[in-house]
This record gives sequence, structure tokens and C-alpha cells, in this order.
Amino acid sequence: MPIALWQFAQPLAAIAPGYAVARELARICVEQYEFNILTGPGAGIAQGSCWAAVATLPGAGFPAERSVTTAGALGATGAVLPYSAVFGNSRMASIRTRVPIPGLVAAGGFNAVSNHAERNALLAANNNGLALHGLPIPPAGFAHYVLFVQLAPCPHCVNWLNGAANPLSAAIGPGGPATLHVWYRWPYPAGGGAMWTWNGWPRANKLADIDNNW
Ligand SMILES: [Zn+2]
Repeated sequence: MPIALWQFAQPLAAIAPGYAVARELARICVEQYEFNILTGPGAGIAQGSCWAAVATLPGAGFPAERSVTTAGALGATGAVLPYSAVFGNSRMASIRTRVPIPGLVAAGGFNAVSNHAERNALLAANNNGLALHGLPIPPAGFAHYVLFVQLAPCPHCVNWLNGAANPLSAAIGPGGPATLHVWYRWPYPAGGGAMWTWNGWPRANKLADIDNNW
């Protein structure tokens, strides 16, 4: 099946496939924003960039994640989760000369893969040999994968996600045994300003917003 798009903070979002995993991926991204030395507009997992994460099976260098709690201090980790998180960021292209990023492909213009967070996450997962985490949803033999990205995929990314360049193309193509649930918070491009503002909030405010409103 092609990708399925879901937006947080919409009616009935909480019963759509992948909601809990996507929400946890969002919390994990908030935590990474605090850890990352490249915070700040223009680089890294930064305020002025769009964040993404895809749930994978744990692998070498990609241990199982732990849940993030709003009440816990930065880095205080909760229950072990059955998946790892591989991140993407819309500014990866701008830092690639300074920070080697496994799986990152060449930079280029707006439609280059490296300028789109959701594509980077999927490519980094695939290029590191990681299989995606499948939700425990019946029927057996059909997989539901989960990707979080802050802004809705741009039209180029929708085409890419549903096209042959996506490493998942065979699995999620017509008649394939899987679908990819793409969860986002803000529309593209209208939500860019709201995302930048939100990214600049303190950690606790972002986590509380996810807890209460997503
Ligand atoms: Zn895009």
C-alpha cells in the first residue's frame, strides 16, 4: 500500500495506526534536540529545521530506545522500547562536510534527498542495514511501519515516498506486504513558522504539549 498520512492534534488521531510510536518518536526527537551540540538555527537537529525519525529494529550502533517522560530530567530514561530510532533532519545537507552521517546522500537543490528530513531518516536506516519496526497489528504477514516528521511531506517527498527511490518501495508498492504510516504535526508549508516557534520552546514545554495536545 502507499504511505498513509496522519496529523497529530486532529480528531480521532489517537486511534490511527502508529499513533503511540509516532508520539514517542516525537518525544525522542525533543530529547535529541537538547543533546545535540549543533542546536540553533541553521544546523543539525536545530530550531530552524524539520526533524524526522523512523522506528527500526535495534541493530549494531542503534540500541533500543527508552521512553521519554516529561517529568524526568534530560537524559533520564524510562522503559526500554522494542524499537530504535533513526533520525532525519532537513539541514543534514548543510552539515555533511563537517559531520559524517552514515547513509546520507549527496547535497543539492531543494529537491535533493538530503534537504528533506523524512527521506534522510529512511535512507539512513536502510543504508545502515536496519529493518523497520512493525506494529503488532493483525493480520500477520502485513507490516505497518511508523515515521514521524514535523511538517507534512512536501509534494516532492510524497512522490519520493511512494516512488522507486524509497528503499521501502517494494514493500509498500501496489500489492506489497506493508504500509508506511507517516505522522506529522504541522501542514507544509503553512506550518513552518509554527514549527520554528515550537522548536524554540524549552524542553518541558515541548514535551508537555506533546503529552496534552498531540
Ligand atoms: Zn520534502
